Amino acid sequence: PVDRSPEIQEARLKLPVLAEEQVIMEAVRENPCVVICGETGSGKTTQVPQFLYEAGYACGSGIIGITEPRRVAAVSMSHRVAKEMNLSTRVVSYQIRYEGNVTSDTKIKFMTDGVLLKEIQKDFLLQRYSVIIIDEAHERSVYTDILIGLLSRIVPLRNKKGMPMKLLVMSATLRVEDFTDNTKLFRIPPPVIKVDARQFPVTIHFNKRTPLEDYTGEVFQKTCKIHRMLPPGGILVFLTGQAEVHNLCRRLRKAFPFRKSNTTTGEDEEADTSEAMRKFKKAKQKKTVSLPRIDLDNYSALPVDEGDEDREAGIGDEEDEGSDLEIGDDPVNAEEKADPSIPLYVLPLYSLLAPEQQAKVFRPPPPGTRLCVVATNVAETSLTIPGIKYVVDCGRVKKRFYDRVTGVSSFKVTWTSQASANQRAGRAGRTEPGHCYRLYSSAVFGDFSLFSEAEITRRPVEDLVLQMKDLNIDKVVNFPFPTSPSAEALVASEQLLVSLGALKEPPRTGRVKEMERARLSCPITPLGRAMASFPVAPRYAKMLALGKQQDCLPYVIAVVAAMTVREIFEDLDRPAGSEDENSKLTQRRARLTQMRRLWAGQGASLLLGDLMVMLGAVGACEFAGCTPKFCEENGLRYKAMVEIRRLRGQLTNAVNAVCPEVGAFVNPKMSPPTEHQVVCLRQIVLAGLGDHLARRAQAEDILDPKWKNGYKTPLMDEPVFIHPTSALFKALPEFVVYQEIMETTKMYMKGVSAVEAE
Ligand code: ADP
Ligand code: MG
Repeated sequence: PVDRSPEIQEARLKLPVLAEEQVIMEAVRENPCVVICGETGSGKTTQVPQFLYEAGYACGSGIIGITEPRRVAAVSMSHRVAKEMNLSTRVVSYQIRYEGNVTSDTKIKFMTDGVLLKEIQKDFLLQRYSVIIIDEAHERSVYTDILIGLLSRIVPLRNKKGMPMKLLVMSATLRVEDFTDNTKLFRIPPPVIKVDARQFPVTIHFNKRTPLEDYTGEVFQKTCKIHRMLPPGGILVFLTGQAEVHNLCRRLRKAFPFRKSNTTTGEDEEADTSEAMRKFKKAKQKKTVSLPRIDLDNYSALPVDEGDEDREAGIGDEEDEGSDLEIGDDPVNAEEKADPSIPLYVLPLYSLLAPEQQAKVFRPPPPGTRLCVVATNVAETSLTIPGIKYVVDCGRVKKRFYDRVTGVSSFKVTWTSQASANQRAGRAGRTEPGHCYRLYSSAVFGDFSLFSEAEITRRPVEDLVLQMKDLNIDKVVNFPFPTSPSAEALVASEQLLVSLGALKEPPRTGRVKEMERARLSCPITPLGRAMASFPVAPRYAKMLALGKQQDCLPYVIAVVAAMTVREIFEDLDRPAGSEDENSKLTQRRARLTQMRRLWAGQGASLLLGDLMVMLGAVGACEFAGCTPKFCEENGLRYKAMVEIRRLRGQLTNAVNAVCPEVGAFVNPKMSPPTEHQVVCLRQIVLAGLGDHLARRAQAEDILDPKWKNGYKTPLMDEPVFIHPTSALFKALPEFVVYQEIMETTKMYMKGVSAVEAE
């Protein structure tokens, strides 16, 4: 029996999903797979695991597993459920890629979808689990899609073996035909249980016109207006990325001061109010300073952003980052007009935000203030924020796009879908009737696509293909995907994997048709199996597999970890708040540049370029004990460095498991590679990134000015460039390999290393 506190019990009774407990549990008893649909906030994520627990699904040896596409949700939901059930986090736990608190007592385990996929590789039947819940299935993240495909086979297998297992798929929308009307996936369509949410009416207000340029300015104006003119009730603002969120928070705090910064914790808020008021009065006498425009091309670091949010992959490099190009000067005039009579309690919310900061949105705002949460699409369905009456929707979303042919990726802000916009609006009607302000016209809304595309159709899939081959799914085309990736993407993946030696080249036959088919069913090689066991992208996995030579392994592991975690350098492009801050930023930039030069090493190691800088940074940071202080002083992202440390440990174990004789270990006092090792490292890097080769533009090209300092790549007609933050920006070697090409103002290669001409 679960011993819940009276307050929790009362709050639970208000959740619509509680009324369906009987129906849900009966359906689960009678069917191997069940789909549950219910509005965000109806209690699916927090309550359904509890129903299963109370019905005894975790009594025996099997436990209850719940997957989330976002790390934020896995962590915060496990804490919430532990608290509701009055159980320790030893029993209700979480596991995300780099951390977790799972113990042998764990009965309910929240995890990211990538983590479960990795577990399937170790134990295809998932024998530890009696139930798997796939949450947020409407998001259609790649790993969620694959998991549903795999589980559609695992569940019947388990039943056949007399170890029954249940599958629950939970979605915030009713659009579940891809799962239910897909006989390839489920021969017998699973029952769909609809949870009727008590949704209050939300009045939608469209803009007459649609701001195309300064939509963040429009968002700011609208939020100020709501706060000044409308009755109490929380405001939830949807923007596209971290930089925008911070910008708006700063402007709102300035317009309606509450306290001077968001670094203080809940305890001293009262004291803060008066302090903030005093500051505000002082600030009012000063003139607002407007910032100079920042030129990204002349800058030491690209801003980090989370793009289409924190989707975790147990395998690939999914911590998306991107560049916000509109970090220039905001018009400040509006700030001066705002009436700051009631303090606005402004909180940011995005995936990379520290968990303690995220948790604040669930607590009631301090008395006498109005809550205003400025969020990315993480607040769309993953987290329900209480007390929201007004939603301000910019109508946009930031997504990473990949060019199908070249693999060039870029972050683009695009219109969201109608389904997403409706989800956003719905956040306003949880506790009473609400209002949603859409900062675009109803005509523009009419042009939005109905639903967002499944992620699997939008990105390269070589990591998935390798994982699936390792699961002995040779004909990936025949896999029961809820939505299949394009044949083009599958062919490209198999070709890359063949070139890396992970798959066997298909036998050559005369007949075209047969060859076509063979290209899509190359079997995995022993090298491929080893690569699949490394939790990194196939190109990096190849480097690890080669790392044994010349005792290079510790270096390869460190570089691969840094490339996988990405964006290890602090974002220095954020706009400074004041002149004082500005000059500090200039100093920091100078220091960072100096440190990079130091890490880039000398002589031969210079040619390793950015990879040497990463290696140097990781080495120096570990040598100093990986402290927040060291990171702070040297412009490294502490969170990234901690992830790198964990990943190094993980990769070292993975390499030892495949190849025990190398006896790899993580040495915190790793000395720099010798000249010999650098040569070897460059070969290893070339072996992994061989298809990412670029050659300096030749004399004849340079006649055209657009080719100045440009590089040629096999697949593109346009020049690509070494990024200004690269260690090789000035050196311009003849041949380079790159980690990725990102299109911002130009096509920039990042993670560049020089290689020898053949
Ligand atoms: P769903 O999964 O259907 O979207 P949830 O189970 O996430 O719904 O949320 C149910 C309720 O629990 C919501 O009202 C939400 O505000 C509340 N809730 C979730 N997490 C927390 C938390 N950490 N603190 C307080 N309330 C929370
Ligand atoms: Mg949920």
